[in-house]
Amino acid sequence: MNRKKLQKLADSLCKSAKHFNKFEVECLIKLFNTLGVEPSDRHAVVGLDRNSFRNILHVTFGMTDDMIMDRDCFDVYDLNSDGYISREEMFHMLKNSLLKQPSEEDPDEGIKDLVEITLKKMDYDHDGKLSYADFEKAVRDENLLLEAFGPCLPDMKCGMAFEAQAFQETSDL
Ligand code: CA
Ligand code: CA
Repeated sequence: MNRKKLQKLADSLCKSAKHFNKFEVECLIKLFNTLGVEPSDRHAVVGLDRNSFRNILHVTFGMTDDMIMDRDCFDVYDLNSDGYISREEMFHMLKNSLLKQPSEEDPDEGIKDLVEITLKKMDYDHDGKLSYADFEKAVRDENLLLEAFGPCLPDMKCGMAFEAQAFQETSDL
């Protein structure tokens, strides 16, 4: 990829990816290109297949949970894949991800409260369950909600190590 093409791509990506500055976007593009995803001929689609993506998650971020790697955040939480995160699914996940408080007499009650609080915050169309649209809107407003029901992203330490490496090593390519 030549310099001009890179600049143009970085400019357009910067407009939609506001979390990154232009320098960072350029680094990510260069990094992406080193993954060997350049199409073999000009009709091929540029992209990563699932296996390569999993491999990167595994090697770079130390992720080993197959169920999580095979889905993105919303799908991880939508356990029965019906397109909605229901109260029951939230309950199930929160129960698994929260530490048990031995002092609490009925820990399930606490989790039920949490489900209601979360639903109140994220259920924009008030139908009692989270659609992908609800989820996306809530996460755009508050990034932390991306992992509202338990970890589904690489942990912070791996993420920072990745950033440090990506934004440093590729910058002098
Ligand atoms: Ca569901
Ligand atoms: Ca809803």
